[in-house]
Amino acid sequence: MEKQITRRNAIGKIAATITVAAVSPGYLAQSPKQYKIHNAEGPDLTDPTTKYPKPPFKRQFQPFPGLASKMDPVPDHGEESYVGSGRLRGRKALITGGDSGIGRAAAIAYAREGADVAINYLPEEEPDARQVIELIRKAGRKAVAIPGDIRDENFCKELVSEAVEQLNGLDILVNNAGHQKTHPSVLDISTEEFDRTMKTNIYAPFWIIKAALPHLKPGSCIIGLSSVQAYDPSEDLYDYAQTKAATTSYVKSLAKQLGPKGIRVNGVAPGPVWTALEISGGQTQEKIEKFGGDTPIGRPGQPAELASIFVQLADNSASFTTGHIYGAAGGSGQP
Ligand code: NAD
Ligand code: MG
Repeated sequence: MEKQITRRNAIGKIAATITVAAVSPGYLAQSPKQYKIHNAEGPDLTDPTTKYPKPPFKRQFQPFPGLASKMDPVPDHGEESYVGSGRLRGRKALITGGDSGIGRAAAIAYAREGADVAINYLPEEEPDARQVIELIRKAGRKAVAIPGDIRDENFCKELVSEAVEQLNGLDILVNNAGHQKTHPSVLDISTEEFDRTMKTNIYAPFWIIKAALPHLKPGSCIIGLSSVQAYDPSEDLYDYAQTKAATTSYVKSLAKQLGPKGIRVNGVAPGPVWTALEISGGQTQEKIEKFGGDTPIGRPGQPAELASIFVQLADNSASFTTGHIYGAAGGSGQP
């Protein structure tokens, strides 16, 4: 008992240090101050229905890929709230799309859990990426920025070799980058647009996994990004939805293939989450206004609310968990 209290106090102190260290004047200018940050002293009984903004949201559009920092409200990626406890000490992670949204929340959490983190993103996203790099460094970990377009097979190979070189190894791969564009009819989807969705969401993870696999030792893991769209596809996301079903399939297939090698493969299937993907063509403006309102929680998720899932799946305390899809959809997800 005495020991437990001592340990809790110690974690509390570490937490306080990390929270202070994570806030820099440059970042504060855009931090989502409106969010309630849980007070670490008491029990966390924050009501999930009122924790974050609910619809109606302001209609807003940014050209693809969009910047999280220009969204209204600015998403919460855990910048001021995520507290680590050494769960990924010494691990080495590569996260595609780590500049914003769900990937950024995972990057912040991984760094605060003790991992060195490389992020990939598109060159237009440099302002978002810089904030993430700064946050990883403030957590005391190595941060590696590798911009580039993952629709290119050669770049995918370079991305992995650069990450391995800079991190001196690799043991967590998060294939998070994705492209989503709403189209009212299948007739509106050009071959070029269809190709962008397939290349980003299906080919790139395939190329990146192939390049990464020779470096992954037993105890490593791969995490793919599925979606509720894999199970309940929307009428206007014909191409995107099928890539998410494909992701669920590759996770399950690869988990069987790599299980005997000691490499775990899991997926995350979010429901509506407030990110740049949605306001840069991923949804119609009508849907943005009501975004997340039809979930039982009554609002969209914030990226920060998914961070602990990525930590749990990467942590080897979950060593018997492979081939699974972890949902986070505010009550409306399947399976
Ligand atoms: P996001 O826009 O913040 O992140 C997606 C990232 O993908 C971008 O930041 C960008 O860096 C990257 N990307 C896209 N095309 C790329 C390319 N050609 N080359 C390199 N990088 C590229 O949005 P998000 O919602 O956090 O998306 C992350 C993942 O979550 C995606 O796979 C998405 O499909 C999935 N997802 C999101 C939701 C949601 O409601 N937001 C729901 C289910 C699944
Ligand atoms: Mg982005």
